[in-house]
Amino acid sequence: MMQHYLQTKEEYKDCILFYRLGDFYEMFFEDAKTVSKELELTLTGKSCGLEERAPMCGVPFHAADGYINRLVKKGYKVAICEQVEDPKLAKGIVKREVIRVVTPGTNIDMQSLDEAKNNYLMCIVYIGDKYGIATTDVTTGDFFVTEVDSERKLLDELNRFSPTEIICNEPFYMSGVNIDDMKERMGIAVSALDSWYFGDDLAKETLLSHFHVQSLEGLGLMDYDCGVIASAALLKYLYETQKNTLSNILELRPYSIGKYMIIDSSSRRNLELVETMREKQKRGSLLWVLDKTKTAMGARLLRSYVEQPLIDKTEILKRQELITNLNDQEITREELREYLGPIYDLERLITRITYQTANPRDMIAFCNSLEMLPPIKTLLEDLKGELATGIREHFDCLEDLCALLKSSINDDPPISVRDGNIIKTGYNEEVDRLRNASTDGKKWLADLEGKEREKTGIKNLRIKYNKVFGYYLEVTNSFKDQVPDYYVRKQTLTNAERYITPELKELEDTILGSQDRLVELEYDLFRQIRDTIADNVARIQATARAVAQIDVFVSLALVAGQNNYCKPKINESGVIDIKGGRHPVVEKMIVNDMFIDNDTYLDNHNNRISIITGPNMAGKSTYMRQSALIVLMAQIGSFVPAESANIGIVDRIFTRVGASDDLASGQSTFMVEMNEVANILRNATANSLLILDEIGRGTSTFDGLSIAWAVVEYISNPKLLGAKTLFATHYHELTELEGKLNSVNNYCIAVKEKGDDIVFLRKIVKGGADKSYGIQVAKLAGIPELVINRAKDIVNQLSANDITETVKNISVEGQASGKKKKPHLDEVDLTQMSLFDTVKDDDIIQELRDVDISHMTPMDALNKLYELQNKV
Ligand code: ADP
Repeated sequence: MMQHYLQTKEEYKDCILFYRLGDFYEMFFEDAKTVSKELELTLTGKSCGLEERAPMCGVPFHAADGYINRLVKKGYKVAICEQVEDPKLAKGIVKREVIRVVTPGTNIDMQSLDEAKNNYLMCIVYIGDKYGIATTDVTTGDFFVTEVDSERKLLDELNRFSPTEIICNEPFYMSGVNIDDMKERMGIAVSALDSWYFGDDLAKETLLSHFHVQSLEGLGLMDYDCGVIASAALLKYLYETQKNTLSNILELRPYSIGKYMIIDSSSRRNLELVETMREKQKRGSLLWVLDKTKTAMGARLLRSYVEQPLIDKTEILKRQELITNLNDQEITREELREYLGPIYDLERLITRITYQTANPRDMIAFCNSLEMLPPIKTLLEDLKGELATGIREHFDCLEDLCALLKSSINDDPPISVRDGNIIKTGYNEEVDRLRNASTDGKKWLADLEGKEREKTGIKNLRIKYNKVFGYYLEVTNSFKDQVPDYYVRKQTLTNAERYITPELKELEDTILGSQDRLVELEYDLFRQIRDTIADNVARIQATARAVAQIDVFVSLALVAGQNNYCKPKINESGVIDIKGGRHPVVEKMIVNDMFIDNDTYLDNHNNRISIITGPNMAGKSTYMRQSALIVLMAQIGSFVPAESANIGIVDRIFTRVGASDDLASGQSTFMVEMNEVANILRNATANSLLILDEIGRGTSTFDGLSIAWAVVEYISNPKLLGAKTLFATHYHELTELEGKLNSVNNYCIAVKEKGDDIVFLRKIVKGGADKSYGIQVAKLAGIPELVINRAKDIVNQLSANDITETVKNISVEGQASGKKKKPHLDEVDLTQMSLFDTVKDDDIIQELRDVDISHMTPMDALNKLYELQNKV
């Protein structure tokens, strides 16, 4: 056995081997050590012919799923080695085989997967200068392929799908891309496969045979050399791990990356599209607001819509049309929601059916779902437009399958396929006959008991059953003498004797035999029915997709109606004109206050960049994010939180917002910030939308201001970049740019002074803020009075040496605006303006004199000392 174990382990080196021994799965050697540590199981030992005992640990087979899932979640691959013959019938060692390998990207256990999220497995091959990318979700049968020519585009695809597992060729693993980052930060299990997976000829052969086509043209793969190799390697990996024919993967969908808006990973996080930045939860994200879907399929599809907004105007308009249509027919929309409600996850159910793991209860869930389809199809007739027609065409009511299940499977069957009671009476004659035999058997036994009592005169004679003897006749000692000759004694108890008769044994054979045969027959029939359903996987998947789509649009329509959204106009001339825009999430989160709406206007001419100033907490970030989210929602095809909106399609959205949480990567906040800015400046285009918040904050004032200034100049120049940008800053000096660059405009978020305090008005108005109100905000935050007063002092002293004057004199690079001519940058001597020059030694001495030592705690004294030392 141990030899076989070691051979098998050799074949599955990169996996943890779950080796079936009786009622347990056992692990040995290193696997045992790893698993006992990861799952907190007891480590034992087994003598195995070696000097030392082999470390061993095990889990009961009936609870194995839970343990496997925990290991897979941690990124391990688990190979399950099963007994493939009945141990009772086996001669010598029981035959065992690996029946499946479970990996993070190939897990089909419904319990452990998030139903509202796809579980993607991605294969990346790097050949020449190109990357082939194939992505699949085995639980739904989705399979996509594309090809890109740069690492950045590859990362964009990675962010779009967020796979749980990546397999790749060695050249990719070694290409210098940050594999550690993928593993650690993104939590993806990455492994390089042997080179035979990536052979050219084998690739073609695999694809043609899997999809039953004659040529790659038939699959639409003519232009995807690397894509072909990636897809084939992915399929082979699935064959190796799933050990089945993958009959749920029926279609390979090639796509070009130009089809979707590009959003990089930090922007996805910053905009909180599908989860919040801090808590990583759905509540508080855009998806949370938009998702009112009723089915798991709809939830997954909506998520993918949010993660990949469109850039094609016609496609966007088609989606809008369907939403409008649904909102014009509120009754149809509500009825659709009702019928969608009871539909189970058809995509994942059909996968279980094709994997032959679906149990009788799954089939009932499936059947109940199918019953909802005809009324949905009827309701779809009410909807007009291209998209609605398309959905209707793919919508198959699957009535034949529903009828089959209804007539064959019991309404309340057991989970197990081996306990009988699965098949309905009336479906199969033999089942009915056998079932009668077992119920009639009870009557036969009662009859026999009566007959024997009469014959023998033994009044308390009873027919009983146990596992050892089967049925027997029991006679108490007081009647022992009346027992006839043809009774064969089987057992003597203290106060009774047990007998059998030939007639009783015959009856027993009929009863027990028919019970066994019934269970066996029901199991066979169940499998046949399941296979019939599996043969229809294509129809079911198409319908599941149609259900998902209609669910998504009903949800978007409902959200639009409930939240008072408007249908945005879509243009291709680059104008973004939002009137009365709101932040879709913040407006839902604030409880006491009203959300104040705001306008946004950007275009490719004189309104390319808005510089936004205003105190902290005024609402700058909220305003910028809301503008980005409205554009993004419009490109999803959704309605938007605004009074009206005209949205010029953007190809990418980039954001650089607040302090990044990438501290774990070992880079300073400033370095992270600059990396992100560098990425934006290199990859944005004139058609992109940039959201830049507080650029340059992580370094000294002058460096920061200079960088921010130069970045605005660069972006505003159409020859260099010319992207539409919202730029929030606390450097008021940047408002000077409005006068120097044509396309730059100043906005600020209004606040009202009320004595010493301020009130946030949350309204964006033209012009720059004249004050930063930092001290007032600090006061609102509860900073002690003493500190606030001292800060006021310092501000007064500092403002004597106003840097704004200096900035006014900076000229701008490459812009012949002619608005104002000022001295060139090198004429300004920045070194003379150290901020702290203004804090004189005299001030410190004065402060020291003012200290009232007799009223200080030792801690206060220490703090004061520290404060003074910092000033010297
Ligand atoms: P800033 O970026 O200027 O520091 P934020 O955008 O973070 O400010 O806004 C601070 C808080 O103000 C938000 O958390 C939100 O609760 C509130 N807020 C922002 N904008 C609005 C608005 N338009 N209407 C109502 N409340 C708002």
